[in-house]
Amino acid sequence: MSVKRIAVGELGTNCYIYCDEASGRCAIVDPGDYDEYLHKVIESFGRDHFDYILLTHCHFDHVAGVSRVKELTGAKIAIFVSDAPGLRDMYVNLSAPFTGRGEVYPKPDVELIDREKIMVGETRFTVMHTPGHTVGSCCFITDGMIFSGDTLFCRSAGRTDFPGGSAAQLRHSLQRLAELEGDYQVYPGHEEPTTLALERKFNPYM
Ligand SMILES: [Zn+2]
Repeated sequence: MSVKRIAVGELGTNCYIYCDEASGRCAIVDPGDYDEYLHKVIESFGRDHFDYILLTHCHFDHVAGVSRVKELTGAKIAIFVSDAPGLRDMYVNLSAPFTGRGEVYPKPDVELIDREKIMVGETRFTVMHTPGHTVGSCCFITDGMIFSGDTLFCRSAGRTDFPGGSAAQLRHSLQRLAELEGDYQVYPGHEEPTTLALERKFNPYM
């Protein structure tokens, strides 16, 4: 498998392209914007190789590129069921307060639930519901890697003061992640990748 990280949008959100190399099938995680560079990267994997657009939560800086990516690839948009309504609400998705241009995004093709499995080629992702940053934040977990959105960052964690946020829920979600067995590479929604072992040790929120 391979993972490519691309910083997109005004906030430099991490968008990831996961490729299951055995099959050549791909998923894109959090296309928070769409620009020529992202277009080129998608084309380099093959636009018809994408099965899913996986959204860790509904905030505009993680989803603003979904329409364009779907148009290009035909991939299915998947988001946790309780964050799906936020795509259609410019205050919950924060596009109105943050950018001054309120936006709504397409209805998802798949509304995910906790522990649901998603296949990308031969790779099986497990959905873990990790509320706290938003009501329907989730992590996508596969062998040795976690796409953690704005739940877990390197030595930090997501804000809980936005609509639907909860510090108590975030603590519980971080606890669930900490209790996973073994180590994982962590690919967060902002800033640098890290590992679960390092975060268990050094992250003050965990
Ligand atoms: Zn967010």
